[in-house]
Amino acid sequence: MARKKQFKAESKRLLEMMINSIYTQKEIFLRELISNASDAIDKLYYKALTDENLQFDQDSYYIKVTPNKETRTLTITDTGIGMTKEDLENNLGVIAKSGSLAFKNENEIKDGHDIIGQFGVGFYSAFMVADVVTVVSKAYGNDEAYKWESTGAEGYTIEQVEKDSVGTEITLTIKENTEDENYDEFVEQYRLQSIIKKYSDFIRYPIKMDVTGQRPKEGSEDNELEEYTEEQTINSMVPIWRKNKSELTTEDYENFYQEKHYGFDKPLKHIHISVDGMVRYNAILYIPENIPFDYYSKEFEKGLELYSNGVLIMDKCSDLLPDYFSFVKGMVDSEDLSLNISREMLQHDRQLKMIAKNIKSKIKSQLQSLLKEEREKYEKFYESFGRQLKFSLYNDFGANKEELKDLVMFYSSTEKKLVTLEEYVSRMKEDQKYIYYATGESHQRIERLPQTEMVAEKGFEILYFTEDIDEFAIKILREYQEKEFKSVSSGDLGIEEDNESTETEQEENKELFEEMKKILSGKVKDVRISKRLRNHPVCIATEGEVSIEMEKILKAMPDSQDVQADKILEINSNHEVFKSLKDAFANDKEKLSLYTNLLFNQALLIEGLPIQDPVEFTNDMCKIMV
Ligand code: ADP
Ligand code: MG
Repeated sequence: MARKKQFKAESKRLLEMMINSIYTQKEIFLRELISNASDAIDKLYYKALTDENLQFDQDSYYIKVTPNKETRTLTITDTGIGMTKEDLENNLGVIAKSGSLAFKNENEIKDGHDIIGQFGVGFYSAFMVADVVTVVSKAYGNDEAYKWESTGAEGYTIEQVEKDSVGTEITLTIKENTEDENYDEFVEQYRLQSIIKKYSDFIRYPIKMDVTGQRPKEGSEDNELEEYTEEQTINSMVPIWRKNKSELTTEDYENFYQEKHYGFDKPLKHIHISVDGMVRYNAILYIPENIPFDYYSKEFEKGLELYSNGVLIMDKCSDLLPDYFSFVKGMVDSEDLSLNISREMLQHDRQLKMIAKNIKSKIKSQLQSLLKEEREKYEKFYESFGRQLKFSLYNDFGANKEELKDLVMFYSSTEKKLVTLEEYVSRMKEDQKYIYYATGESHQRIERLPQTEMVAEKGFEILYFTEDIDEFAIKILREYQEKEFKSVSSGDLGIEEDNESTETEQEENKELFEEMKKILSGKVKDVRISKRLRNHPVCIATEGEVSIEMEKILKAMPDSQDVQADKILEINSNHEVFKSLKDAFANDKEKLSLYTNLLFNQALLIEGLPIQDPVEFTNDMCKIMV
């Protein structure tokens, strides 16, 4: 009979703590046991490098997972280095002692980054799902095999047993279901397959399992099915990100995107990064083509998958992506992360910060090259995520504007397509001071705005802002390559044009404008002669920070304050209507009031602003007809 030994005192408490608190998910016990098995095979591999008697033949090394519903057990077998009696005592009998860490030190393996173990606690996670854990192991170079068995905090027993081959076999007697916990899943084939896929897909040795399925019976006429069982390798083993870029095709990357469920679309672009500098890491990132359905909702979580040495640590590591690139999908694998004891979190994030910084600049340069070299793709991308970029430009008081200003695009009046600010500035005319823009609901609507007439006639390009964020984003940016932005509706357009004659005309009609201002009191700040109109009789210009478009947006917000743009009614002095106004001013004040109100309301309508009193407006219309 094997003698029962106690865990070391401190170990006992630690074990209880472990089982109950350090892991957030029970399913990771399998990740831990498979990692240990993989470490054990690695150790044989390192031995083979120096031991002439040992040949490392890749094919005979594997891990096998065997669930058994009848006995309610789960067995994990490996063909690794195995454990001696002492190893069992020292490594499994003392919690927080890592044989793997010691192995790395003893064998002076500096680059043994493939060995995952280091904390000496992973093994005990088995007790989260098992009442009894039985380890049968035969160490390389030894003739005897030993069995270690434990029911948890009670302690463990060790006794000699028979085992033919070198390696370790760990059997978990899975707990009975309780009221709030279901343990059945840990003997379910499908569930186990998916846990292996999730955490251990890129373990470098095959993880095998006997898989039972159904297939049409051969020679059967009425589609009869038969059950069959075959041994399958569950993991993909070689992580695609460790492969050489030149070996991989676009299709390989697309398949990985689909397999990983990063999205239902085809990615627009993949970015494969291998860095071997201060921090080593591999990453495969994707710029998706379509917006995820929840992208602009609160539910959306940004982040990249984080692997440590091929083992999944975190599903969505948000620290790896800046908010403005939250659309990027993909994964990062690094050997250099300092993980905490549960391997679910990062201990301190210096390495992570460096990786994140590196990734950020890679994404940006990829977007820029997409813009330069694959314009059509960039436009597709921009259709999906341009709004995000513009919002990000505006957010945090423009903290990221330098990062983003070259990535935004707007529709151009002259090019009739999306253009970048750089392209706009490169086309600016010699006498052009500003980057002009006009805001409105749609391109068609903006095109017909009276305010664009003069700027367009000068041959200046105008950017059309149709999204509510556009003007806010540009206000934060203020200028691009030292060129300021100017709304075509703003007071001073910076176009020198016949200023003197306008001034005198303004002076001559001073009293008329004063009178009109009175009629429109509270509605406009001023009435004046327009420098920008060609064919239209009137338009509304604004002064100050708030434009008409901004007034509309701010008013539509839930807790809207009464923000008003400072409006100026501009009159085209070359228009027939101006003569009528002068006439009315001289002869018929009532008519002047009628005309003034009508013209102001007209200007509002063209701007897409509501008129205060539609009934009065239609009555006024009738008055001039009869
Ligand atoms: P860690 O993996 O962080 O070292 P664990 O608690 O997971 O800690 O494992 C403790 C030690 O037990 C390992 O370092 C290793 O020496 C030994 N060990 C565990 N599982 C196996 C196995 N399947 N084969 C050989 N040694 C093992
Ligand atoms: Mg381990």
